[in-house]
Amino acid sequence: MQLQFIGATRTVTGSQHLLTINGAKILLDCGLFHGRRDESYRLNTEFEFYDPSEIDILILSHAHIDHSGNIPQMVRKGFRGKIISTFATADLCKLMLLDSAYIQEKDIEYVNKKRAKKGEPPISPMYTAKDASASQELFSPIRYRTPIEIAENITLTFYDAGHILGSALTSIEIQNNGNKTELCFMGDLGRPNMAILKDPEKIPAPDIIISESTYGGRFHKPTQETEAELEKVIIRTRERRGKIIVPAFSVGRTQELVFALHNLFKKNVITKMPIFVDSPLSVNVTEIFRRHEECFDQETLEYISNDEDPFAFRLLTYIKNAEESIALNDCEDTCMIISASGMCESGRILHHLRNSVEDPKNTILIVGYNAQNTLGRKIVERQEVIKIFGEEHRLNAEVVVMNSFSSHADRKELLDYFNSFDRNKLKNIFLVHGDYDQQLKFQAGLEDIDFKNIKIPERGDVFKF
Ligand SMILES: [Zn+2]
Ligand SMILES: [Zn+2]
Repeated sequence: MQLQFIGATRTVTGSQHLLTINGAKILLDCGLFHGRRDESYRLNTEFEFYDPSEIDILILSHAHIDHSGNIPQMVRKGFRGKIISTFATADLCKLMLLDSAYIQEKDIEYVNKKRAKKGEPPISPMYTAKDASASQELFSPIRYRTPIEIAENITLTFYDAGHILGSALTSIEIQNNGNKTELCFMGDLGRPNMAILKDPEKIPAPDIIISESTYGGRFHKPTQETEAELEKVIIRTRERRGKIIVPAFSVGRTQELVFALHNLFKKNVITKMPIFVDSPLSVNVTEIFRRHEECFDQETLEYISNDEDPFAFRLLTYIKNAEESIALNDCEDTCMIISASGMCESGRILHHLRNSVEDPKNTILIVGYNAQNTLGRKIVERQEVIKIFGEEHRLNAEVVVMNSFSSHADRKELLDYFNSFDRNKLKNIFLVHGDYDQQLKFQAGLEDIDFKNIKIPERGDVFKF
């Protein structure tokens, strides 16, 4: 058995690892690299370590683009194997890979305009909607907690990762001459007590684990404080008669926010303030949430058993069409607008920000991660002047950053998760999906609780067992 680390090595994005067992080639995740345009383009389009047509099976941990986003590229380059994921992940990927293809096509249009001015030949998008549609044919979803033999002597079982709808922790059991080896692939680990989703499940004690380490050195605020924090922001902004603008990822964050607002509505904290979810993708994703009760926690199931829709209440309006979105600009009264993209890179959120950032009555509420060099990060840093659609605007609105919404386990939650594992059985720990400083801190934390042999692989590193 051989394991090669290809992506999300000493960085967060591009999750991808290649497992070769008795000649069967199994890919764990196929995520998109994000970063500087030229380098990402190269990393996403060149297959340096394998030929996509040789891959037998792709096991997909969840639908986030840094885990699934390069599937259409694989298909474009000849991959025809099976994609094994949960049912909810397969449903989400239908929307998200198409959306990603659309973003690639738009982005290349912009690049090619610039190239044409310099007399350079056009380049083609990494992949197109056609490639994204072709990927859908290969999905072969399975249920949680149901072992499936994926190749001779290799059995796979998914457990709930509690990170986003459909997210899975993968346990792979390999039988070899009466010996059993258990490998765990932890795509992204969620947090206990998150809204909507079940808590992360325990998986059988592994011999080998590939673990994420995004927040291996940081702590989040407890999820229980979310509603109280949100309540304060709403009351403050309402007193100023301002608007609350919330850039939010369409998958997960928007639904968690809606759910928290629904709870506040039931507690009579918000009685009059209209709330708008203004993003066609968010609206479609919310429909998929409604179809996957198998991922819901007790609190959310109670809504359903009381015949209530957790994602709808009297004050909330979902907006799909562009005219209704533009009409929100004229809304004089206090209201909340939740829109994508989460890092303010594209989408309708830009119009709402342009209309709101200069007025100190308003609040920009940040509920997600914002990568370096994005507009979202500039707002988080409270830069005095920000550029939207190429024009400068003074950032006078109040900026509130809430990290209790994070869907990633923090340092304590990661260490707690590991704590139940058998130290004698777990002989190999590989840390991926984290910036190197976070990985080093997490490695030290694991050593403090007596785990040994913890490696932080680099791109291309191979390990044999
Ligand atoms: Zn994720
Ligand atoms: Zn991730």
